[in-house]
Amino acid sequence: MYKYYHKRYKQRITRDTVIALFVAIFFIFIALVTIQTQKAQITVLALIILIFAIVYYYLVYEPLSIWKKVLNTPFPDSWRKILNENVKFYTTLPEDEKDYFEKRIQYFLETKKITGVDTEIDDKIKIFIAVSAILPVFAFPDFEYDNINEILVYPNSFDEEYNTGDREKILGMVGNGAMNRMMILSKPDILNAFSGKRTVHNVALHEFVHLIDKEDGAIDGIPEILIDKAFVLPWMRELKIAESKIKRHKSDIDPYALTNNSEFLAVASEYFFMSPVKFKKKHPELYKYFSKIYRRKLKSDKSNY
Ligand SMILES: [Zn+2]
Repeated sequence: MYKYYHKRYKQRITRDTVIALFVAIFFIFIALVTIQTQKAQITVLALIILIFAIVYYYLVYEPLSIWKKVLNTPFPDSWRKILNENVKFYTTLPEDEKDYFEKRIQYFLETKKITGVDTEIDDKIKIFIAVSAILPVFAFPDFEYDNINEILVYPNSFDEEYNTGDREKILGMVGNGAMNRMMILSKPDILNAFSGKRTVHNVALHEFVHLIDKEDGAIDGIPEILIDKAFVLPWMRELKIAESKIKRHKSDIDPYALTNNSEFLAVASEYFFMSPVKFKKKHPELYKYFSKIYRRKLKSDKSNY
């Protein structure tokens, strides 16, 4: 596992190494010029230009050039077929929003690497992961999961040591330490969420909600990046009410949600997106909060989003 990770990591740093090399050469050149001319201002000026150039490259040029590419690349018909056959959310969208949803998927797949570890991955898996990532942030055009680079797909669920097997209990996780900026997902559990069976589970969406939660620096069940400060307290109050219902066995939300506030947010969000009609019926108050957080409402009590 770590050997594999190391290989990936090496590939990823190649580009940054080249840039760092250029920066070093640039500095040697500027230092020589400064020594020759005896003018320290040149070094300061060069430093300012360099900082601007780096910021511009990473924050403006790179993201914009990817969007340009995405906008100029038609969405493949085979991908559209996968969406039409498996993703109910997509099929109920108006035409213009369908287009936009497709572009968000393309952008996601253009910027994140999806890799199978000891397992084959196809377009279907890639699309399902991208859909799960985009669903919670569809109303937030600027949200791009900057805190992740790669998603590893395992052939099955796994344990803390990354051993896979039918009986292992972890279905997905956001990596830290050596696995920082990575997500691991179990392949059968990604597929299950889109199998057509009524389900309230979607492990990929669950992990992406953790990333949204993490964006403000704290994984605490409060996605401050999506909500106003004034909304935090009422949300925490509603979350506690919902948790106490689970404790009293008066709720059909998976009790795993009781682990902590962050798990509550992730587990209940899965339910909200996977079975919205049922969620609204069984948890009307919570539904109001979630539709506010994710800016998504049911069009009618029978249809999907
Ligand atoms: Zn979780």
